[in-house]
Amino acid sequence: MSTRRQPVLGILGGGQLARMLALAAAPLGVNTLVVDNAADACAGQVAPLLVADWTDYEALAAFAAKVDVVTFDFENVPAETAHWLAERVTVSPAPRALAIAQDRLAEKTLFRECGLNTPAFEAVDTREGLDRALALIGAPAILKTRRLGYDGKGQFRLMSIHDADAAWHALGAQAAAHGLILEAFVPFERELSVIAVRGRDGDFRTWPLTRNWHTDGVLSLSLAPAAQIEALQQRATGLARTLAERLDYVGVFALELFVKDGELLGNEMAPRVHNSGHWTIEGALTSQFENHVRAVLGMPLGDTAARGVAAMFNWIGELPPAAPVLAAVDAHWHDYGKQSRPGRKVGHATLCAASAAQLAPRLREVAAALQRSDQAEPAWRELS
Ligand code: AMP
Repeated sequence: MSTRRQPVLGILGGGQLARMLALAAAPLGVNTLVVDNAADACAGQVAPLLVADWTDYEALAAFAAKVDVVTFDFENVPAETAHWLAERVTVSPAPRALAIAQDRLAEKTLFRECGLNTPAFEAVDTREGLDRALALIGAPAILKTRRLGYDGKGQFRLMSIHDADAAWHALGAQAAAHGLILEAFVPFERELSVIAVRGRDGDFRTWPLTRNWHTDGVLSLSLAPAAQIEALQQRATGLARTLAERLDYVGVFALELFVKDGELLGNEMAPRVHNSGHWTIEGALTSQFENHVRAVLGMPLGDTAARGVAAMFNWIGELPPAAPVLAAVDAHWHDYGKQSRPGRKVGHATLCAASAAQLAPRLREVAAALQRSDQAEPAWRELS
């Protein structure tokens, strides 16, 4: 009798995404091994955790020897680490896709090459460069770091050209290390995201478009499938497919989009499972986490259809009481096992129903019991 060896998925970064990937991997018979430099990384509560820095090559060599495929919970893993690992073990998505998605300038340039329009943008390296970019783009505008920014971090909004000094004061010090980009501020009608997955064999699927609302640059609420997306779904899927094929991408990614005058504009791409796809755990036939594990390990992909309509609340900073969610019909509580901290994503809840008409009153009731009516309001306005 031969001994059966279960595949092992290595995950760089041990946050809530790694935690949900590990939970989705288990029923597929896939073991996980997580690397994070924090001993209390929350994925460590559900999967073996190796505590090491991204530059600890001795620890990374031991990690590479134990896993079949390496993937990411965190896209800002240094490119050198990803390349070094890719010489020893399969890394999915590939380091090239990661490098492009880490740089807002390279990312937006690629969007345009793929036929996806973007807000006007200019690279900024110096204080004079900021003036030149402002003269071209005008105000309002947003100055962002090209690298290492996420959830609205590393951004400064300029309401007029007179804010240039303040913007440079806030971000100028990062120009040399990370580069900056000035983007036109888009007074968008809606923010949508398309979560997509591409398998090792090129099989490509998207989940229905998700509508997202952000507070201070951080996702607060998602609703899926977004309403009135008939014309946009096909276009978003086509653009995501072109991007995935250009990058020879394997795994799940999210493409964040603005809708302006009925047209799609590309904001950014996340080369990993994404917060706006958390609703797929209970709201779709196959979740983004399960399909990511399937994709990177070369398994067939699962159906991405929505079961009905789902709304997801993000819990930022601290958790509200769980009881109103636990008591509601088809409502799902996710506690990431983290300590409370301002601005930190500590959990989420997803409410599902067969139809928008069924979801609206439930959402209203649960949000009121949680004292989160303000957070839920945009979704029930859209559903009603
Ligand atoms: P980001 O980290 O670039 O995804 O930005 C976080 C959030 O800030 C986005 O989801 C938008 O709500 C807002 N935002 C970013 N860039 C722009 C822009 N060019 N115009 C308007 N809003 C933006």
